[in-house]
Amino acid sequence: MLTHLAAIALLVQQPQGARQFVAVSDSIIALTNVRVIDGTGAAARAGLTIVIKGSTIQSVGDAASARIPAGARTIDLTGRTVMPGYVMLHEHLFYPSGGGAIYNEQGFSFPRLYLAGGVTTMRTAGNMAGYADINIRQAIDDGTALGPAIDVTAPYLEGPGLPIPQVKALRDADDARKMVNYWADEGATSFKAYMHITRAELGAAAQEAHKRGLKITGHLCSVTFREAAALGIDDLEHGFVVASDFVTDKKPDECPVGNAVQRSIAALDINGSGARDLIAELVRRRVAITSTLTIFETFVATQPNAPSKALDALLPEARRQYEQRRAAITQSADTTWNVLLRKEMQLEKMFADAGGLLVVGTDPTGFGGVVAGYSNQRALELLVQAGFSPLDAVRIATLNGAQYLGRDAKIGTIAAGKQADLIVVRGDPSQRIEDVENVELVFKQGVGYDSPKIFESVKGRVGLH
Ligand SMILES: [Zn+2]
Repeated sequence: MLTHLAAIALLVQQPQGARQFVAVSDSIIALTNVRVIDGTGAAARAGLTIVIKGSTIQSVGDAASARIPAGARTIDLTGRTVMPGYVMLHEHLFYPSGGGAIYNEQGFSFPRLYLAGGVTTMRTAGNMAGYADINIRQAIDDGTALGPAIDVTAPYLEGPGLPIPQVKALRDADDARKMVNYWADEGATSFKAYMHITRAELGAAAQEAHKRGLKITGHLCSVTFREAAALGIDDLEHGFVVASDFVTDKKPDECPVGNAVQRSIAALDINGSGARDLIAELVRRRVAITSTLTIFETFVATQPNAPSKALDALLPEARRQYEQRRAAITQSADTTWNVLLRKEMQLEKMFADAGGLLVVGTDPTGFGGVVAGYSNQRALELLVQAGFSPLDAVRIATLNGAQYLGRDAKIGTIAAGKQADLIVVRGDPSQRIEDVENVELVFKQGVGYDSPKIFESVKGRVGLH
């Protein structure tokens, strides 16, 4: 019992515990002489002043002529850039452990890491711990724990066949309906269909979610992207490398065996009519795509290893597990994932260019090394590697996510009247995207948190806490 109490004390910190990471909490704040990347994709503007009143941005204007209200706390941010807080849509509160079949909830470290990395709003895209995700969101909203605003996804809607004992196997379409309504009643605000769901179950789940004004996304396999779009899915996770649409002998409602999907994408002519028609169909049906390049790059020998600061966040055993698996990949002669990552990047760019809503998330799963917070920054660098301008990468990570969630009137951009969710970085990410790593402050609803101090507080904890 004592250990339980200790765990609860660790997870649900006392309010004063969260307060020690607050760097700025004045009721009126003026950030002067800043460069602003506003999240719309517009060019960066230098020499501005942002006035924050309470939880809201009151004004954004030229520093030379800005009217700073009496009593404001003025912070000179010369040399810094201010961007909207990230709205990241494929996050998790769990991390792989025990050989990958069990995922441990990171209820202490991950919410902190997301916030420190600049994430002020996130959607989990799958949930291995049921009520834990819902209760962690509540603790954050109550101010007793540190973290972003969380759109909590219910436990996975999955058919039989997944070797993860934490996941329920749906029995039929009626079971899917029941599960959606149960978790919506308990406070889940989003749903995730998984690889072995049937068309009937996905259709039923989409209908029930939509009746309640909620959205459903999917990492699919047994159902093709085209079928899912027709069934009303709102978003497709991971993009095109998991699309089973191009497996020639695919059986309905069955996930092709082995690596047939990967082989079909590796062989796909991305300029051919198959790829172009699928993109056009997704755009026409307004299905979003969530880019998760951060997880895919871990499978690619030629991509860099996770940065040492992210590895320092890991428990020693978790770090060793990552390093062993990563070494095996870098020494392997199999180059399939090099091809797949490059194709995925090209297809995501084509989808966005065709008018599709591309959003981004980081998926801290796989064999490890995708560490919350650090991964969110890396996601922007990979979007630039995919051919997006730095300004477009920021827009995908901010405004696009807010649009998908239907909250773009309030979050996702920097403008008067918007919620004061802001990231302050040294340097200029519009010129050098790696500057997104230099976070000094993260404002969430007008309160400024000390990012380096939060990162420091979870060193060596990921994997267990
Ligand atoms: Zn995921």
